[in-house]
Amino acid sequence: MTYTVEVADLTKSYGSTEVLRGVDLAIAPGTVHGLLGANGAGKTTLVRILATLIGYDGGTARVAGHDVSREPHSVRGAISLTGQYAAVDERLTARENLTMVARLRRLSRIESAARTDELLARFDLGTIADRRATTFSGGQRRRLDLAMSMVVPPTLLFLDEPTTGLDPRSRDQVWATVRELADTGVTVLLTTQYLEEADQLADRISVLDGGQIVAAGTPEELKTQVAGEVVRLSYGDGARYEAARAALRTTEVTADPVLLTLDVPSNGTPDSLRVLLDTLAAADALPHRVGMHAPSLDDVFLTLTAPTLEAHR
Ligand code: ATP
Repeated sequence: MTYTVEVADLTKSYGSTEVLRGVDLAIAPGTVHGLLGANGAGKTTLVRILATLIGYDGGTARVAGHDVSREPHSVRGAISLTGQYAAVDERLTARENLTMVARLRRLSRIESAARTDELLARFDLGTIADRRATTFSGGQRRRLDLAMSMVVPPTLLFLDEPTTGLDPRSRDQVWATVRELADTGVTVLLTTQYLEEADQLADRISVLDGGQIVAAGTPEELKTQVAGEVVRLSYGDGARYEAARAALRTTEVTADPVLLTLDVPSNGTPDSLRVLLDTLAAADALPHRVGMHAPSLDDVFLTLTAPTLEAHR
């Protein structure tokens, strides 16, 4: 398989600060790849290297089959940047913004007009096509931004936190649009700190921490890798709670003596629940409530990434 992005042992320092310390990354064509990391983890640096905006110190990086440092022009022809790199001109209408990009990409006047109409329809911008972008809502602007990045469909689209600040309906619309782009064969590299966004959109995720990929896989793989399901036992009185703690002393429980809860790791099967509840009943320590807690990407993120990166910035 030829990957759209192939990065091996990539390193980058700013002065004495090592920002990327041997990053490996492979992204298959037509997939959405989520790059997760706390502030300062190195996400922007990696994107800027792949987009040929800055150089790197060691390793290799290829985009759409082209070496990023030796063939930057070919790489630039294959990529498109959105999000914080957006090119929307607020003084122009949606139609004018799209036509401007089309003309810059050397489409003829007739081709530009046709492509603009097509994109206005596809990105649901038809009714506001002739309004200036200053009057747009966040969701409308985000859709225009995406439409502009698709004037000449790129092989690789960089998306930076595409739904920050959007209400749930607009957010769902942008997510659907991004999925559609991937379905048409565009490869998407999504950088985000929003785990729900990565969970919804990404086929695979890499977690970057301290300049290294510390975990990679599908969202489901990462969740099972970090934490299995947990049974939460909640108690109303301290005596029963302590009795339960004693009864489960050989199990790896996480106890919260303030909330009077016990989190017990579980594989979620009815048999394992029955054994647990039988043990508690025998000790006269049944809880007043039992809940199942499936791991989220938040658990993955909190478990895998260091909490103090922001302090190093
Ligand atoms: P955020 O989520 O906050 O955007 P990030 O994961 O994108 O963070 P980067 O912007 O790649 O992180 O920054 C990684 C580290 O590199 C940070 O410690 C940052 O201060 C440092 N850094 C980035 N650009 C430069 C620069 N031009 N000169 C010196 N240090 C830099």
